[in-house]
Amino acid sequence: MALKQCKECKKEISTDANPCPHCGKKNPHGMPKWLKYGGGISAP
Ligand SMILES: [Zn+2]
Repeated sequence: MALKQCKECKKEISTDANPCPHCGKKNPHGMPKWLKYGGGISAP
C-alpha cells in the first residue's frame, strides 16, 4: 500500500482509497488504467 495525493483536496490518501475519504472524489489519483480502455475519456 502506498500513499498518493488526492488531485481534488490534495490530502494524502491510500492508493486503495476510492473514492477519496476526505472529499469523496472518485478516482482521486487520476484515471485508472482500466478506464482508458472503456471509460470513453478522450486521450490528450
Ligand atoms: Zn480528496
